[in-house]
Amino acid sequence: MNIPFVSFEPMHKEIEEEILNKFKEVYEKNWFIQGEEVMKFEEEFAEFCGAKYCIGCGNGLDALYLILRGYDIGEGDEVIVPSNTYIATALAVSYVGAKPVFVEPNLSTYNVNPGLIEKAITNKTKAIIAVHLCGQPADMDEINKIAKKYNLKVIEDSAQAHGALYKGKKVGSLGDASGFSFYPGKNLGALGDAGAVVTNNKVLADKIRAIENYGSDKKYHHIYKGTNSRLDEVQAAFLRIKLRNLDKWNEERRKIARKYIDGINNSKIIKPVEADYAKHVWHLFVVRTEQRDEFEKYLKVNGIGTTIHYPVPMHLQPAYEELKISKGSLPLAEKISNEVISLPIWYGMKDEEINYVIEKINNWK
Ligand SMILES: *Cc1c(COP(=O)(O)O)cnc(C)c1O
Repeated sequence: MNIPFVSFEPMHKEIEEEILNKFKEVYEKNWFIQGEEVMKFEEEFAEFCGAKYCIGCGNGLDALYLILRGYDIGEGDEVIVPSNTYIATALAVSYVGAKPVFVEPNLSTYNVNPGLIEKAITNKTKAIIAVHLCGQPADMDEINKIAKKYNLKVIEDSAQAHGALYKGKKVGSLGDASGFSFYPGKNLGALGDAGAVVTNNKVLADKIRAIENYGSDKKYHHIYKGTNSRLDEVQAAFLRIKLRNLDKWNEERRKIARKYIDGINNSKIIKPVEADYAKHVWHLFVVRTEQRDEFEKYLKVNGIGTTIHYPVPMHLQPAYEELKISKGSLPLAEKISNEVISLPIWYGMKDEEINYVIEKINNWK
């Protein structure tokens, strides 16, 4: 059997006709930037998240960058970032000229360990970026408590967790502002690059809306040195169609995850856990093993596609040499990057495919 790490085919087959009709509609309207589709998507996505405002933008990295700009965080400031995340989280901080300060995760959820945040706070710290990694919300009550004590902003990186719940509340409404990515492989993905900021703060929302459009509040009047990071009509139109299916697609991911958790039983494999407070949406199903490289090869030989999220922690990337964080300084991030591997989990996977993955893993010696 051959099971790719990810396939969009079953998901896209189901909505193909709708997507093509919608494309024709937008095409014939001849209005491609900042029109009705973007406006409607922003309304619908804000409502989905249980928040007041949504501002569509170019991608997930920009969403985080725009939030930091919106709060005037920059040169000389520090921002707390989990040591175990995709590099985009830290790059957003670097792009505004601030310094990312890494805090180690909790080994059971892979998300930041709130108990370690306080030690990393200095008088330069302005914000904490909480990443909801793999589709599981970070422990937001604890993070918000610390932020309140030190007067810090809490920014959610929700790029992997559209629709996930923390104590019954949607991600996107759990901090001061939230950045989403709609990269095609995310739980809610465009057919290209796209992203959004979600917040309940009107002042911030208006400012970000200006910054992402050349800093202009009205045409050809510029109040900020802005950028160009707008969501376009075609992607917004596609996202509206996909958003209507997201709960169904997330439920399907949850079913597959349940089958993996119940079925995988190999003492060399550590399975992921859903925290008590969370409704996980399983953007990634990450297992851990000390013999990761052999395990990866074994699955490959058996036709099972996998990916490693992520093989090199940020502090050991050449791009972050300037931080001078030596090997061994963030042992959990390093351990995770050496041991994790993500299994296929996508809408439309058949039972026989899921069972095949389970069987092969259980037979691995
Ligand atoms: C994908 C991702 C991003 C960046 O999103 P892009 O749309 O690719 O810019 C940021 N943070 C996390 C955790 C991600 O997984």
